[in-house]
Amino acid sequence: MAKLLSCDCGWTVISPQGEADVKKHAMIHVEDAHPGMNMTEEQTAKLIKTV
Ligand SMILES: [Zn+2]
Repeated sequence: MAKLLSCDCGWTVISPQGEADVKKHAMIHVEDAHPGMNMTEEQTAKLIKTV
């Protein structure tokens, strides 16, 4: 099963490689699109859904 993460801005990532991969992409997105946003690992985990 793939993991999905949706950002508040509408950006979405889906990865069949699991939660760690989704988190990695989410961290890159936050740094890129929301430089001021302080996103913890825990907050990121809460946004992850299994699809
Ligand atoms: Zn975003």
